[in-house]
Amino acid sequence: MADRPPYEIARETLKQLATRRLAPTPDNYLAIYDEIAGSRSFQPFPETQLSSIQRVLPAQTPGQKRLLTQFEKAIATKDWSALQSVLVGYANLGLSPVAATPVVSETTAVQILPADFAEALARLIDNTLPALGEDDARVHDMATQLITFLREPDPPLSTVQLMLSNFTYRLSFATEDQAAIRASLLQLLHMIFENIAVLSVDDRWLRGQAESLMAASTPPLTLRRLDDVQLRLKDVIFKQTEAKARAAEAQEQMKDMLATFIERLAQMTASSTTYHETMERCADLIGKASSIQEIAPVLAEVMSATRAMALDTKLTHTELQDLRERTDAKHAEVARLQQELERASTQARHDPLTGTLNRKGLDEAMEREIARSRRLGSPLCLALLDIDNFKSINDRLGHTAGDAALVHLAQVTREVMRPQDLLARYGGEEFVLLLPDTNVESGVAAMTRLQRELTTRFFLQGSEKILITFSAGVAQLHDSETSMDALQRADKSMYLAKRSGKNRVMAA
Ligand code: GH3
Ligand code: MG
Ligand code: MG
Repeated sequence: MADRPPYEIARETLKQLATRRLAPTPDNYLAIYDEIAGSRSFQPFPETQLSSIQRVLPAQTPGQKRLLTQFEKAIATKDWSALQSVLVGYANLGLSPVAATPVVSETTAVQILPADFAEALARLIDNTLPALGEDDARVHDMATQLITFLREPDPPLSTVQLMLSNFTYRLSFATEDQAAIRASLLQLLHMIFENIAVLSVDDRWLRGQAESLMAASTPPLTLRRLDDVQLRLKDVIFKQTEAKARAAEAQEQMKDMLATFIERLAQMTASSTTYHETMERCADLIGKASSIQEIAPVLAEVMSATRAMALDTKLTHTELQDLRERTDAKHAEVARLQQELERASTQARHDPLTGTLNRKGLDEAMEREIARSRRLGSPLCLALLDIDNFKSINDRLGHTAGDAALVHLAQVTREVMRPQDLLARYGGEEFVLLLPDTNVESGVAAMTRLQRELTTRFFLQGSEKILITFSAGVAQLHDSETSMDALQRADKSMYLAKRSGKNRVMAA
């Protein structure tokens, strides 16, 4: 946070005086001003107040008289440490040196922060710093000072309290800033994703990805969701780069072809116009000729013009043939690039139709989740679902409707399940769900909830409402089990669910 101008600090100070219901005395004003500015103003030595204390101090015994003289001198020389000794001296009057000791240490103990508590506080402050970013240098300075002070021997409680309240005040601004920065960064991210969606109106896969990106980057954010955003974005960038290269190539090719055609056309028009003119002129000459001798040179001209025209046409034909061959070669090249692109897309981690993870993405996610679950000792469930009677949807409504049904199922699943649950397309109409921190009972409950939701969110095909149901098997990963073994168990249960009448969820 940048330093505020003094008039703004002054305004905030007045506001705080009113909010905290403090008397508007100069001292209170100064204390709050310093708190907001994070500064320490010059404090005048309170001579008058100390002199009035001096007037009421007792001076009957020789000891008291000596201390009073010292007090007077300390005020005159503005010496705080001399004043402190006088006050301690007064407190010890009448006590034997032996008895005085415990009283002093008892008083001190009340004012000192216990070392382990001070250390815990220092660590707490230290741990909050990374969350604040590097934007506010002042809050970092204040934190460092406070931590250093807390780690000094016997930090006085009152000083810690004062420093802590200053730090807390400054911290409140810094955290508000961080929250605002986070919110606007997210907004920015959404704008970019929206832009991708708008720019790719004719590419269903890209549009689907952009929509998933927007969904995945909606709070609450977790590291896992951000990881998903990153993976998807990589796929999108890859696909967009390829698509752009192909579009540019096609455009170049079109331009080349068009230019050559126009050139040829112009040449053909020019030579046939000349030919026509020659023919007309020759016909005229022949018409006017009165002897065969006059016709002979005209015929020679006709022959030569016709030969030239034939040659021209042949040349044009050859060139056009050449152009066609070159275009065919280009077509073959584009087809080869397309194939390469398809092969490269298998490197991608997402299924182009539904935007869910593909087999490769699932393998990676399973490895990550199994490692996490074993590290934290938390349960991990794996569910395998297969759409019921999917073939009949395809047969009755066509393959495109079947595809749309798969997209619908993926979308509903993403909306219904928790953000940390992962969805992958395992095969044609089979999906796998990874459910972290979930035991088998909760896994079955979650899948049953998804099943219920699917019955309320119809898949619309024209005006027809299609009910999609699925059968599923849920397996909780055993301690040393591989993901393949767990998947097989889930598959067996899914098969049992099919055998028992479909549209049900079974635990493995
Ligand atoms: P069950 O309830 O026993 O699972 O019956 P089913 O009809 O769902 O299962 P079956 O395995 O007989 O048929 C699956 C069908 O899914 C066959 C296949 O044509 C279709 N399919 C697989 N992948 C796709 C795809 O990507 N799009 C479409 N539209 N259909 C697909
Ligand atoms: Mg199947
Ligand atoms: Mg099926």
